Amino acid sequence: MFEVVIGLEVHVQLNTKTKLFCSCPTSFNHKQNTNTCPTCLALPGALPVLNKEVMHKSIMLGTAIDATINKNSYFDRKSYFYPDSPSAYQITQLYTPIVEHGTLTINFEDGSEKTIRINRAHIEADAGKNIHDGDISKVDLNRAGTPLLEIVSEPDMRSAEEAILYLKKLHSIIRYLGIGDANMQEGSFRVDVNVSIRPKGDEKLYTRVEVKNINSFKFIEKAIEVEVNRQSEAWEDGVYDEEISQETRLFDQVKNETRSMRGKEEAADYRYFPEPDLLKAVVTDEMMEKYTIIPELPDAKKERFIKEFGLNAYNADVITSTVEMAQFFETMMQEEGVTGKTATSLLTVELPARLKGEVNLTNSPVDAKKLGFLAKRVDDKTISIKAAKEVLDFLMENADADIDDTIEKLGLQQMTDTGALESMCDAIIDANPEKVEQYQGGKEKLFGFFVGQVMKASKGSANPQVVNEILKAKLG
Ligand code: ADP
Ligand code: MG
Ligand code: ZN
Repeated sequence: MFEVVIGLEVHVQLNTKTKLFCSCPTSFNHKQNTNTCPTCLALPGALPVLNKEVMHKSIMLGTAIDATINKNSYFDRKSYFYPDSPSAYQITQLYTPIVEHGTLTINFEDGSEKTIRINRAHIEADAGKNIHDGDISKVDLNRAGTPLLEIVSEPDMRSAEEAILYLKKLHSIIRYLGIGDANMQEGSFRVDVNVSIRPKGDEKLYTRVEVKNINSFKFIEKAIEVEVNRQSEAWEDGVYDEEISQETRLFDQVKNETRSMRGKEEAADYRYFPEPDLLKAVVTDEMMEKYTIIPELPDAKKERFIKEFGLNAYNADVITSTVEMAQFFETMMQEEGVTGKTATSLLTVELPARLKGEVNLTNSPVDAKKLGFLAKRVDDKTISIKAAKEVLDFLMENADADIDDTIEKLGLQQMTDTGALESMCDAIIDANPEKVEQYQGGKEKLFGFFVGQVMKASKGSANPQVVNEILKAKLG
């Protein structure tokens, strides 16, 4: 009876070398308050200068979401007092952001898709960090002035599922573009979820609640669920107007509930006004030429993998879901003669099953070149896919081992010599006259028995396809 309405705000930390308005490094893990200068400490008289790299990366994002890139955009001050913001305002883009009116398409499992509108993406400066240590709170301003791109969707999502699909897509686009790490745990991809409900069929928007500080896709899904429940229960109990107000709430992962953090400020409370210390940000023709040429994005790559390498939609989806896996796959396919099928099975099934703990695709002892070569040895029939798993087991423990040496050492070469296989088949046929009679009399299931016997006689090294062909010919 209710329809869920969700709009998402995502703060992406851009991976520039220096901060948004000063030349302090953006690197982390430095001693507190060392990556600072008069500008990001907001000392009186220090002036901000816009970092061009931030504009370049914003143009790339704008291109990826088919948005309008404004030739002129402007900065505004958003005033608020908080200990981690020494200027007592944040420089952001309220009235004319650099990127506006984009779209992002999400794909459902059943193959259908939906386009979500993106209202804007604007540049803004991050705050520092408050560190609470027992009774004492400390402020670290290393992060103050780090560039953020805030990407704001229209309230176009109608379920937690759609919200997660949108976020995962956006996340992977950021990674494909290489404009940010988008690490949720480290806060370089921060999501605010705006949730409301309305009676089905109603066009108007009801009161939205903004849920903050959720640092995993799983918890975002949970937070949406509990918030939707809270709002619909209030409606059903007739206390919607009293209990649901426009406010900011925190999601509590342990109690699985949202809690009021503060009433939602109206724009007027922030006393926005044009930033007097900065010029407008001008996107030049050269910038447009250079930064609207972007790397291939997940959807295009998926289509190409299907066409070029014969992957099915499901596998193409899995492989392009992260830029690391897509690149790994492409490196594997560079090995001559490798088929999409073998590469997919080694990459999406066998390798992940052997990656544990801290070991992942980027630091796997078996890298893309190696796994590609292993796939080649399957596809040129040197070894079976089953034997490839054994080789892989060995390689995981012996990163420096040579693949051909390993195949030899473990005695895993396949017999493809038709002569030798033919005599093996003959021997099995001769040894089982009754079974042959039964098979030829119509008991076709027995075919598997013959294949099995030959495989056994060859200690698993016979190429099953060749054995199949030989037996078919001999048994009729
Ligand atoms: P603020 O910064 O005050 O949160 P923004 O305009 O930046 O405001 O973001 C508002 C977000 O809330 C957008 O993502 C928008 O789509 C979403 N939104 C607006 N109204 C509703 C609503 N009734 N229900 C759900 N989401 C909404
Ligand atoms: Mg908001
Ligand atoms: Zn600085």
